[in-house]
Amino acid sequence: MINIVLFGPPGAGKGTQSEGIIAKYKLSHLSTGDLFRKHLKEGTPLGKLAQQYMDAGNLVPDQVVIDMVDDRIKSDRKVNGYIFDGFPRTVAQAEALDKLMNGKNNPISCMIALEVNQDELVKRLLNRGKTSGRTDDQDEAKIQNRITVYQKETIPVADYYKKQGKYNAIPGVGTIEEIFANISRVIDARL
Ligand code: AMP
Repeated sequence: MINIVLFGPPGAGKGTQSEGIIAKYKLSHLSTGDLFRKHLKEGTPLGKLAQQYMDAGNLVPDQVVIDMVDDRIKSDRKVNGYIFDGFPRTVAQAEALDKLMNGKNNPISCMIALEVNQDELVKRLLNRGKTSGRTDDQDEAKIQNRITVYQKETIPVADYYKKQGKYNAIPGVGTIEEIFANISRVIDARL
């Protein structure tokens, strides 16, 4: 069983690289952004609550995110392991995830952090906004806010995993295949 936290700023390529990882290692994909977008589309109370935060590019409150992840993991049948994408985004979320997974004797194996410079991120997100339909990708002010929130609230999560010896940085620029080859090397070393 292997559980990976795929980490990086918005636009780093977490979703794209998740697809390759899922296909190769048969892991279960848990993207909190995708889960919130699904709730939003279905018009659930959770979706309505999350919308105001997502629209502004702010983080949804920790307990809301943690409860949603907890529910999802509880409802899963047997899985080979998880790829956590866009979660945890705060130290409180990382602590809650450790508690959850350690309690199942199924701890986090490693964090893979995709590194991309800020100019490239803004360019990629504006580009994605043209086709994704995501309103949070279409407005440069919202994009800047998401990057600022990432720097303030999410970067400390990298230190949390560094202290546990689980942190691995990978350049998030290059071809999808090149980046994936580097990710595979980190995962294979943990298998
Ligand atoms: P993403 O698809 O990961 O870029 O997430 C889109 C939006 O969903 C974010 O800008 C946040 O508003 C919200 N969101 C997703 N994951 C989290 C999380 N782990 N903690 C707080 N908010 C989140």
